[in-house]
Amino acid sequence: MMADPLSYLGVELKRPRVAFFDLTSCEGCQLQMVNNEATLLDFLSLVEIVNFREAMTEKSDEYEIAFVEGSVSRADEVERLKEIRSRAGILVALGSCACFGGVNQLKNQYDLRWVKQEVYGDFPIKTSPVRALDQIVPVDLKIYGCPPRKEEVERIVTNLVLGKSVTMPEYPVCMECKANENICLFELGEPCLGPITRAGCDAWCTSNRRACWGCRGPAEVVNLEEMERIMHRYGFSTETMVERLECFGGFSSQVKKLKGRSAQPVKGGGLAPRKRKKK
Ligand code: SF4
Ligand code: SF4
Ligand code: SF4
Repeated sequence: MMADPLSYLGVELKRPRVAFFDLTSCEGCQLQMVNNEATLLDFLSLVEIVNFREAMTEKSDEYEIAFVEGSVSRADEVERLKEIRSRAGILVALGSCACFGGVNQLKNQYDLRWVKQEVYGDFPIKTSPVRALDQIVPVDLKIYGCPPRKEEVERIVTNLVLGKSVTMPEYPVCMECKANENICLFELGEPCLGPITRAGCDAWCTSNRRACWGCRGPAEVVNLEEMERIMHRYGFSTETMVERLECFGGFSSQVKKLKGRSAQPVKGGGLAPRKRKKK
């Protein structure tokens, strides 16, 4: 992928040098990029990829934009991230693990000594509590999602290359879900975090009859009390809501708020809880 410089009428065209890195992750975010056959060639003509372990063997430490997937859970990752930060003009947190710990941060809630013993036996690996990238170094841009939509990554990269501003939807997933003319999953007996989750995935899950678990983190405005009222109205408990909110780490402040008070009956005239429909 490290191609010769492009030129037009003898004038060299400058493409930004882009590198992809992974810390503690499943590599699903990077896979999204290489899976994108339909637009991969166009995308590659826009940038020069100089480091992408999942897709190429060549490596260079000279790049302008670094995409980092995964969260930080080992001391060597802290050093690696600082090194990447020192080289990159723009550091992009790619995916929920990088943005807010993702599914990895669930480990912070448990004593995993027995798991480590079971998996690593006499060769334990020293790990630390999981942290998001911006808990270690400044991050210029966050691309949300587990994994992010490849269309969104391409849009953002195109804007970066063209020097245009990068914007993220501020409204919730429900807006996209309704635009896709889906039947609300609450009506089908599934709890869904679409009302408070940042849109931009085109209601990926709910359009495929899967509830939203909030992988993109909170929308700009989160009405937690109303979300809780909706849950109760359809017969789901606050605990069910918390379980989902905790999954990707983006709603940590909301979880703290909910756990910080004892379970209370719904206030403010919410509708009476409705029984879950039998499937
Ligand atoms: S955000 Fe999701 S897809 Fe990306 S590395 Fe983390 S777990 Fe994998
Ligand atoms: S299924 Fe979820 S995202 Fe869609 S309208 Fe219902 S609550 Fe909103
Ligand atoms: S619907 Fe929710 S869980 Fe699914 S991709 Fe979108 S934000 Fe993530």
